[in-house]
This record gives sequence, C-alpha cells and structure tokens, in this order.
Amino acid sequence: MKKVPFVTKEQLDEIVKKYPTPFHLYDEKGIRKNVKALKEAFSWNPGYKEYFAVKATPNPFLIQILREYGCGYDCSSYTELMLSDAVGAEAGDIMFSSNDTPAEDFVLADKLGAIINLDDITHIEFLERAIGHIPETISCRYNPGGLFKISNDIMDNPGDAKYGMTTEQMTEAFKTLKAKGAKEFGIHAFLASNTVTNDYYPMLAKVLFEEAVKLKEETGAHIKFINLSGGIGIPYTPDQEPNDIFAIGEGVRKVYEEVLVPAGMGDVAIYTELGRYMLGPYGLLVTRAIHEKHTHKEYIGVDACAANLMRPAIYGAYHHITVMGKEDQPCDHKYDITGSLCENNDKFAIDRMLPKIDIGDLLVIHDAGAHGFSMGYNYNGKLRSAEVLLKEDGSTQLIRRAETPNDYFATFDCFEIGKKLLK
Ligand SMILES: *Cc1c(COP(=O)(O)O)cnc(C)c1O
Repeated sequence: MKKVPFVTKEQLDEIVKKYPTPFHLYDEKGIRKNVKALKEAFSWNPGYKEYFAVKATPNPFLIQILREYGCGYDCSSYTELMLSDAVGAEAGDIMFSSNDTPAEDFVLADKLGAIINLDDITHIEFLERAIGHIPETISCRYNPGGLFKISNDIMDNPGDAKYGMTTEQMTEAFKTLKAKGAKEFGIHAFLASNTVTNDYYPMLAKVLFEEAVKLKEETGAHIKFINLSGGIGIPYTPDQEPNDIFAIGEGVRKVYEEVLVPAGMGDVAIYTELGRYMLGPYGLLVTRAIHEKHTHKEYIGVDACAANLMRPAIYGAYHHITVMGKEDQPCDHKYDITGSLCENNDKFAIDRMLPKIDIGDLLVIHDAGAHGFSMGYNYNGKLRSAEVLLKEDGSTQLIRRAETPNDYFATFDCFEIGKKLLK
C-alpha cells in the first residue's frame, strides 16, 4: 500500500516555522479513529480492555487521548507507573507486566491498585516480601517454550525468550497463589512481536485459552481475564498489508466460542496491551536535509539521528521515507540517509531509491509513533527532540519541548565543575 504522510507539504511548511526540526509529529485524528475501531472489534467481549503499552510512547498527553476511550496502562517500571498515575489511573487501570522487577516497583504498583502480572514463579515470594501480602487479583505470564509457528512460518522463538513461566510452573504458581489468598486470576503471554498477519492473536488465544481451561481444572482457580498482550504489528514497508483489526477480533471470538464457552468460562474478559498498533503509524519524525556528500556512495545528511529514532540502527528496521513535495517525482536516486552520530550505523536508510533530494528539503520518516521517541538516548550529547500533536482541527500543540543543554547537564549538579555547565 502506498504510504502517504498524514500532513501535506503546505501544512508542514507552516508547522516547521513554529517548531524547528527535528521533531516528532503525531496525528490526533488517526489515533482516535484507530482506538475506536479496536474497541469495536472486541466489543463482543463485555469485559474487553486495552492497556496501552506505555513504553511505546510515554507521553501523558497522548495517553490521555487513549484514556478517553477507556484504555488502561501497561507498565513495567517505576516511572511508567508514576506517569499512569498522573493520567488518572484508578484501581484496575494499570497492568504491571514487568520482569526482573525491583521491589520498590512492586510496592508502587500495589499502592496504585495495579494488577500485577508475575513474570516468574520466584516472584510470588519476592512480591509477598515486598508488599506484605498477595493481592486478591493476580496474573501470571506464560511461556510455552519451543517455536511459535503459524502453519510453516516461524513467528518467533519463545523457547529463547527470558519472559514467563513454563507450563508446569504455571500450575504450581496458581496453586501457591490460591493457597496464599488470591481469588481472581489472569493469564498473559507475548509470543511474537510486530506480527503483520490476522492469525497471530487467534493462534495465541488458542494457546492461552487451552492453558486457562487446564489451569481451572487442575487448580480450581477462577480465571477472570486472559491478556493477549502486544504484538499486533504495522506495515512498515509499502508492500505489507495492514492487519484487519475486525478480522482479528472475530478470529479471537471464534476461538473463545470453541474453547472457553464449552468449558463454562464464557465470563472471561479479554485484555490487550498493544503499543505499536495503537500509535506507530500516527507518528512521523520530521527532519531536514542539511548536507549532501558524494564519495564512494551518495549520502544525504539530515538533522535527526539515531538518538531520535534508533530502530534502523539497532534492528536494521525499515522506515519509509517521504521527501515532502516530491511524492510524484521518480525515485531514481540511490541514497544513504544519515544522521550525525559518530557511529556508522546511524543511517535511517541504506541504498534507498528516492527522488533527487536538495539541501533544505523536508523529509518525513514514517511509523515513528511507537518505540520511536521513547527509545531515544543522548549519545554524542544529542538532545532529545520535541513532540508535537497535529490536532483534529489542523492546529498544533507542543506536547513535549525539545531538550536544552541544561537538561543534558542537569545530573552534574552534584559537584562544582558540573554545576558550571548549568545556566
Ligand atoms: C512491549 C510490550 C507490549 C507492547 O508491544 P507492542 O509490540 O508495542 O504491541 C505489551 N506488553 C508487554 C509486556 C510488553 O513488554
């Protein structure tokens, strides 16, 4: 599918007068339309709830928009819990799906009334020591091991993943938790990431639903919810077909009718913890071409770098690039699009066919709305960019200012020379 930015060149020319490049731009209209469709796709399940994966885009303004549609928050750290609390999380609105968890994180999660999703059987004791009791509602993360396949396609390798408990441990954990006073149970698994197939959730649902029936029979636990977690992907490349959320919702419903309902478990709520799917396509990294270089290859240097979006550098991930105003020109130039870090992997694209780029051209890097800004870092002293929201009425709002050198130097305030850097 042709990838078209959600802003026009004319709009963007105006926006960059107000906010210097580089910055992340988010699309309110797209975000709202998408979350509405997700809710509708799972409306067959009365208890359905999406817990937005905060780590994907930890911006309270954006999370507040999702909150309007009843979304909760999926957190895995102390600051993510604080952020969710600030956006108005009430008891049961936070899913705390952490791993290798510090005790103080469990304490805050419990204080905020989060549902705690245990990554390991040893965390039962650890949690009990940290918070002094076992919560009445508790969840366990499942890892069936082996390879996760859809027909002959290997989707991912749970056997190699650090997360979750084995089948035997799940049973033991449920028995122990029940003996310690837990009354309502949840099951969670995240077996494949960024899947661009409508079959992932239904396949995962089958694994989890069958495990739930087994756990109920073996332990007598009341299973309140099954959490399908994240993993619904987005089409980063133009040749990928986007997922059909209604086909996915319907696929899960079928498995629910086949497995849970006959087992007398027709009251189980379905939860999701989507991140990428919720915001990925609705964020662009806006940057400007500031250099061209002709050596052994053709390079275009832009004013953004991997510190603003590191997926291409660390995963070799494809992010589509549109040269604004040149959408209809032939892609007859082969470029490496580079950032300014002293790291040769700081390239947004390698050997990418694009229209001829001139210095000063605005480029937008697509699908940066999730796992984009949030993975940013400060290497080479690069400062984090601003985040801007393009509102439904076409106006813009700053929803995070760009860092200044003061922000970068702030933690040197513990000694004299360091303090001199602070203005
Ligand atoms: C990262 C993560 C998610 C969200 O993953 P996406 O690929 O963004 O959908 C959900 N749950 C947990 C526990 C995660 O770690």
